[in-house]
Amino acid sequence: MYSKEMYELGAHSSVIREIFEYGKRRKAEIGDDRVFDFSLGNPSVPAPPVVNETIKKLCDTMEPTALHGYTSAVGDQGVRDAIAQYLNRTYGTAFSAKNFYMTAGAAASLSITFKALTEPGDEIILFAPFFPEYSVFAKAAGALPVIVKCLPDTLQIDFDALERAVTPQTKAVVVNSPNNPSGVVLSEETVLRLCAFLEHKQKEYGKPIFLISDEPYRELVYDGVTVPYLTKYYANTVVCYSFSKSLSLPGDRIGYILVPDEVANSGEIYKAVCGAGRALGYVCAPSLFQFLVPACLGQTSDVSIYKHNRDLLLAEFARDGFSVAKPDGAFYLFLKSPVESAADFCEKAKDFELLLVPSDSFGFPGYVRISYCVATGMIERALPAFRKLAEAYGTLKD
Ligand code: PLP
Repeated sequence: MYSKEMYELGAHSSVIREIFEYGKRRKAEIGDDRVFDFSLGNPSVPAPPVVNETIKKLCDTMEPTALHGYTSAVGDQGVRDAIAQYLNRTYGTAFSAKNFYMTAGAAASLSITFKALTEPGDEIILFAPFFPEYSVFAKAAGALPVIVKCLPDTLQIDFDALERAVTPQTKAVVVNSPNNPSGVVLSEETVLRLCAFLEHKQKEYGKPIFLISDEPYRELVYDGVTVPYLTKYYANTVVCYSFSKSLSLPGDRIGYILVPDEVANSGEIYKAVCGAGRALGYVCAPSLFQFLVPACLGQTSDVSIYKHNRDLLLAEFARDGFSVAKPDGAFYLFLKSPVESAADFCEKAKDFELLLVPSDSFGFPGYVRISYCVATGMIERALPAFRKLAEAYGTLKD
């Protein structure tokens, strides 16, 4: 009658959405400013001024049929060329327009890439904690997600666990740095080790293993931390990029897939990307937002606000006796639950109107995610509530 698999996906919304909906009901009951909602990763810092200025300019100056019409399926040539030039200037790469396929954000980039690279039964390695939609996209492509947990203290890659997980069926490994939900950035040392490991496995199995780099948070880093540009470390890298977070445009849906020439059979892989985009019905990425991109390359929303939010919370958690992995980027903190069940901890937090997300759906139980892309005022009001939560668990330091 209908697809049971799709029914299951539609009927059970994510835990994050459930908490967000609870927050809306609770705000209606007790007032907006008394609920501390840390559930969603919806950027609170406005887009940089260049975004609205450019949209206005495009509306005033471009032929409406060009501005709102279809672009070619791979995206506008001039836009792709501008992205290539920007990356070449910034990272010393040698891309051109033909390496890029414009998408409706990272979710589209990932689902297209998974579908393009895999055949039924292929395995995709996901490092936990991970963005929960990865497994949805992998299964929808007919691939098998294989979960490899990171090291509990640093949340960097556990290479012994990776060694045990890789098989001749491994088609791709997904990395996400800076990471959702932990904010952890993969160190260059980890990247070098991962790439050497994958090279070795490619040789052993006599077939390519792709590194898929999911990068919606690339520019959101603090304290001078840098994020290695992975195509320079490993030839078989495909980049799934999005402007959702760097420019605070998550509802406008714009991003791209980058298939460098160095990728094995890059021409065929690029065609498979085009085919997957077609099969999934994407047609082309939103035209207005494609045309916006060239003026915004290298620009971000005001990252210093996120850094300030992060530092307020880190100082509070140090006093509260809560432990967190070192969060160098994105706008999430991954806090270790003082009790085994993160769900119980989140329920208790609700007594103090704190809405936190238990980590089970990120494939890494025993933690909670705190999304700090919220108004600084809300964080300041929430600090006493965190202290009361720490008191309830007896972890408070002073
Ligand atoms: N990948 C990660 C790690 C994310 O956190 C998100 C969104 O939160 C996405 C992909 C999807 O981003 P987009 O809005 O660009 O589809």
